[in-house]
Order: sequence, then C-alpha cells, then structure tokens
Amino acid sequence: MSQSVTRQVRQAIMVQLYTHASFSLPCLALLALAWSMLFHDYLPALEAWSWLGLVLLSLCARAWHLRWRRARLDSTALAQLEIELFVGVTITSIIWSLGVLLYMGALPDAYRAAMMMLASLILTGSAIMLFGSRRAFYGAVLPLGLTILFELGQGNEQERIVACMLTGYLFIFLPTLLRRLRRDQAASLYHSFSNANLVAELKQVSEHLKLASRRDGLTGIANRAHLDHCLAKAWRRCHRAQAPLSLVLVDVDYFKQFNDHYGHQSGDECLQQVAALLARVPRREDDLAARYGGEEFALLLPCTSMQGALQVAEQVRDALKQIHIPHQKSLVSGRVSCSFGVATLVPDNHATIADLVQKADAALYQAKHNGRDRIEVALMGKVA
Ligand code: GH3
Ligand code: MG
Ligand code: MG
Repeated sequence: MSQSVTRQVRQAIMVQLYTHASFSLPCLALLALAWSMLFHDYLPALEAWSWLGLVLLSLCARAWHLRWRRARLDSTALAQLEIELFVGVTITSIIWSLGVLLYMGALPDAYRAAMMMLASLILTGSAIMLFGSRRAFYGAVLPLGLTILFELGQGNEQERIVACMLTGYLFIFLPTLLRRLRRDQAASLYHSFSNANLVAELKQVSEHLKLASRRDGLTGIANRAHLDHCLAKAWRRCHRAQAPLSLVLVDVDYFKQFNDHYGHQSGDECLQQVAALLARVPRREDDLAARYGGEEFALLLPCTSMQGALQVAEQVRDALKQIHIPHQKSLVSGRVSCSFGVATLVPDNHATIADLVQKADAALYQAKHNGRDRIEVALMGKVA
C-alpha cells in the first residue's frame, strides 16, 4: 500500500504546484505592468516595452500551457509534469533577470533599492509557491537570485552588504524553511491518503464478508440464513399489502443413490447445476432461490399467487428435464429429477412463517409419497 500512497502524495503535490503556478501568473503580470508604468521613462521606449511584451507573452504562454496540462494531469507521468513546470518557472525567472539587468543600470539609487525589494518579493513568493518541487524551486530562484546578487555586487558598499545578507536568505534560510514545509506537507498528505485507503479497503472487506455471509459456499446461491431473513421481510411486506406469499421447497430425488453411484464430487456438481437453474428461472426482482440444506432448495416468491408459484415450479421441472443430468439409479427416470412442495398464503395475524414452511414441507412430502418428479400444492388460510 505504501508505494501507491507515496505516488498519491506526489500526485497531490504536483496538482497543488500547478494550481499555485496558475495563481501566480496574473500576479506577475500585474507587477510587470505596474513596474513598467512607473519606470519606463528611465529606459529607451523600445527596450522598456519589449521587456514588458516579453513578460506578458511568456506569462500568456504559460497560462495556456497550465490550462491545457491541468486537464491531463492524471494521465501524465509525474517526472514529465515536474520538468514542464521547471522549464516554465525558469523561463519566467530568466525574463525577470533580464528586467533587473535592464533597469538596475538605468535607475537612480532610491529606485534601485525598490527594484531589489520587488525582485526579492518575487523570489520569496515563487519559492513559497514552489516548495513542493526542489527542481522548480531552484529553477525560479537561481537565475533571478544570481542576477540580483551580481547587480548588488557591482554597486556601492551598502549594496554589497545587502548582497551578502540576501545570499544567506536565498541559499540558506529559504531552502531550510522550505525543506521543513515540504516534509510536513508530505507527512500530512501521506497520513490522509493512508487513512482514506484503509477506509476504502475496510469497506471492500466488509462488503465481501456481507456477501459471503449470505451465500452458500457450494452453490453460490443464497444460504439458509439469508432465506430466513428474506422470508421474514417478505412476510411483513405481504402482510401490509395483503398480498399472497409463496414458498416452493425443492428436493432432489434419489440423491443418495446419485452420490453412491457417481461419487460425492459429481454429487456436488449436480447440486451446483440444480442451484444455477433455480436461480435462473424465477424472473422477478424479489424472487429468491436458496439452498435450504443438503439436497433441498427453496424458492421464495413474494406477491405471487399459488397459480404463479405453480407456474414457476413447472418451469423449473421442465428446465431440469431439458438439461438432462443422467441418473442411472433413479427409480423415476434415467435423469436427475426433483419433487416440489408449493405453499401460498396471504399473511395475517393468525398464521406464522413456520406454518408456511411446514405446509410447503408437507406438500413436498406428498410429492415424494406420490411418486417423486412432481409438484404438489398445499392450500391454507386466505389463499390468493
Ligand atoms: P429422496 O428421493 O427421498 O429425496 O431420497 P434422497 O436420496 O434424495 O434423500 P436422502 O435424504 O436419503 O439423501 C440425501 C443425500 O444428499 C444424502 C447426502 O449425502 C446428500 N447430500 C447432502 N448434502 C450434500 C452435498 O453438499 N453434496 C453432496 N454431494 N451430497 C450431499
Ligand atoms: Mg432431502
Ligand atoms: Mg432427496
């Protein structure tokens, strides 16, 4: 899990970097505009407006690139995203360095200090925004930072002192601070992604366990516990709606002989085939096929009349005939057959679920008694 979490963390940091970069572009454009408006007089018009044009053009190109790339962030390799960001911020930083070189030589001392402050502001802002990527951070800081230091180094003594302080700030204080920020950010993202993944995994496991607790291990259809649960639910529903509830009990004929003759393994496969057929035949959403136990199955048919249940049982019997599983030891036919007991009632306060089951069982016993491979119906209560 930890490797996928690390990847998620890197992905999240990259998304943040792209978001921050998009936010910084209009700010940089405004700064360049304000700067050119105030100080363009100190430069030849061509140089001043060319530099401004270059800044705005590069920012527009980066804005277009970020917009285009943000729609494809998920499908692009992280290394590629980081390189593109690095190239973008480095180009911006070089263009600003060019501005510093152009203006610093031409401005009077007071404005040189203002220019330095502005450049330091841009550097700090870029560094904070890009702290998630070391490469992008140095791409933004190095060209502009070195240019400022170079210009200050050429100046008077005060400017050289400032240059020394700025060096410490840019190359010792800022990287140390940003390294700590990066570590804390990665740790907090790592924890939140780990927790989210854990919750998702637990949900999956609990869903799986829920499904497994309802299924019969051999046949894959509902087990007895789930049948009991659904029967109680259907009973309450049909009671409220005063609708008929049908239960069909199904028992494989001469299955002991089948096992003895073909082996236990073939017996299991036979049960699986019968179960699949039982699950396939009833069509309504609420109908349920379940393994009742051993070689006995049940069909729960809510809101189904006795005629409807009889019809479903007939369909199962016909389908079983169609798939023709050979059973040489059957005394009723040369294939696997089943006996069916059908019970239907409209639930009321006088009857219980046990009555319904007992009647279906009695009808099944009758079907066995009457020769097997047949359907018998039990009538009881207010039958629809
Ligand atoms: P009847 O026609 O009266 O129903 O006779 P029968 O032989 O089908 O009924 P009986 O109750 O005598 O035998 C049921 C057999 O079903 C006995 C048991 O070994 C077998 N059986 C129960 N569960 C399984 C199972 O999961 N797999 C296999 N292979 N056999 C099973
Ligand atoms: Mg049986
Ligand atoms: Mg049997």
